[in-house]
Amino acid sequence: MVEAMEYRVLLKKDIRVWVEWLMGKGELHAPVAKSASHPQYQFEKISQPDTVCLDYATTILPPKQCVQPVRETLIRFDRVANQFTLSDQVPERRLHIIFGIHTCDIHAFNFLNTVMRDGNADTQFLARSANTAIIGLRCRQHCDDKSFCESMGTNEPPDTGYDILMTDIGDRYFLELATERAAKLVDDLSCIPHTGDEDVVKWRQMLADSKKNFDRRLSINIEELPAYCEANYHSPMWDVIGKKCVACGSCTLVCPTCYCFDIRDELDMSLQGGERYRVWDSCQLGEFAAVAGGVNFRRDRRDRQRHRVHRKVKYPKERYNLFACVGCGRCSRACIADIQMLDILRQLGAKSHEFQRT
Ligand code: SF4
Ligand code: SF4
Repeated sequence: MVEAMEYRVLLKKDIRVWVEWLMGKGELHAPVAKSASHPQYQFEKISQPDTVCLDYATTILPPKQCVQPVRETLIRFDRVANQFTLSDQVPERRLHIIFGIHTCDIHAFNFLNTVMRDGNADTQFLARSANTAIIGLRCRQHCDDKSFCESMGTNEPPDTGYDILMTDIGDRYFLELATERAAKLVDDLSCIPHTGDEDVVKWRQMLADSKKNFDRRLSINIEELPAYCEANYHSPMWDVIGKKCVACGSCTLVCPTCYCFDIRDELDMSLQGGERYRVWDSCQLGEFAAVAGGVNFRRDRRDRQRHRVHRKVKYPKERYNLFACVGCGRCSRACIADIQMLDILRQLGAKSHEFQRT
């Protein structure tokens, strides 16, 4: 746990004041309710403070597009002038603030930062990430029956990766200020005073009570997941999952730790210039692993599904000692074929001794 530099409190009735003040400090992204009848939430750039909704279960998409845009220009070229411009520098941009992000999504950002630093560092991603302040929100229960954050250890905050962490303690939020930047995000706002002893006692009690709300949904030793994947490499479970999957790619697009992209060149309508850009891609699409000569390394949906799961709980664990699944449940909610990550991981644990690699 981060040794918080400072504790503050904010009455819930004053949240609007803080949000409005933060909007003056940078571009604020926060959860917003998309429909009153069927509660769904989305991270959006905030222009009206009243639209921010902190009492949300989860969001359809994670807030990763704040640091990894869906589409990004890499090179502009001009055939007439015979020149091209590299976009290898991130354009100057205002501080971005992601407000009210759950702890599982903070873990996901930390994972992305680790991956983007590895090997050929993704300087654009890393620059945007460094210029993004994180104001997190501790959860008090699972979002719904699809999430399994407690099993993945992400219902608790990571050691680093956030500036401020909020806890709902009744009529107010308890704020843990964890970085130097955090002080600038509350400054000397009179509505965010230092805590009294009573607030600290209440906060500690709330943390203890919240722990009891999270049931353990995966009754397997998650540290063994890479070995379970290995043992089940040839399991018929992948045939069953592959037959159900319709290869829509939604599970990867909503995942807070997926980062694959495709690079494409596109000419302007005038044919005089154009751009090279990158755009989010999905390993579940049929062409993802296709290469020259008509070869496709993962032509079958069964292989692509197995690959997705291995990319979540096997390869990153082996390479970074991190899981790329934070148990948010978004992939399961988004899947029209009702393929559930929780079920897959349970099956891997249960079948680990049945199908040994031959
Ligand atoms: S694999 Fe599914 S449950 Fe795991 S982090 Fe991605 S979207 Fe969330
Ligand atoms: S969302 Fe479901 S159906 Fe679509 S690619 Fe993923 S697992 Fe397959």
